[in-house]
Amino acid sequence: MKSKFFSNEIERVVFTEAEIEAVVAKMGRQITKDYAGRSPLLVSVLRGGMIFVADLMRHIDLPVSVDFMAITSYGPKAASGVVQVVKDLDDPITKRDVIVVEDIIDTGLTLNYLKQILLAKEPASLSICTLLDKSVRRIANIPLAYKGFDLEDVFVVGYGLDFNQAYRNLPYLGVLKEDRIKDLNFI
Ligand code: 5GP
Repeated sequence: MKSKFFSNEIERVVFTEAEIEAVVAKMGRQITKDYAGRSPLLVSVLRGGMIFVADLMRHIDLPVSVDFMAITSYGPKAASGVVQVVKDLDDPITKRDVIVVEDIIDTGLTLNYLKQILLAKEPASLSICTLLDKSVRRIANIPLAYKGFDLEDVFVVGYGLDFNQAYRNLPYLGVLKEDRIKDLNFI
């Protein structure tokens, strides 16, 4: 889908719809192989991860289930990564093979904290799957079992990722024009 509405606001496309589709399919195939004979539970973090998990699960040829969490940062995120769980998982994860499905890992602080919350519930296993890895900004060292793309240090929107709650419905991942970012008081 070509977006007429947003096309003036995007500086450049970083990953096209076709590139995303191919990488998500590949990740799904790998998970299918790695978890053969098991029924993993995909844990998706709202709201950014919703589109990715919806696409990814359709490429996993296993009886997967999916559950959602919503979190908000607590105080200055860069300082601690401490998050508040505003929507917890609906089902228990004890003894389940859990795959946390994230849209993007930046400093890794949020996920590091989330991982501790999940591990306390004693899953059988816990692995991390991310579509985007902004590893140059990483502070917390998190082993990634599955990753789609490496991303340079740019702020991207689209495919579930927002800026001030907009742009999530773009089918590709792109960088916003600078004036757009200024308009929206990006800090
Ligand atoms: P971290 O704790 O890893 O620094 O934070 C990750 C979160 O920051 C992501 O889940 C996402 O909400 C936000 N984030 C980091 N980089 C980007 C980006 O390039 N674009 C958007 N839209 N959000 C980002």
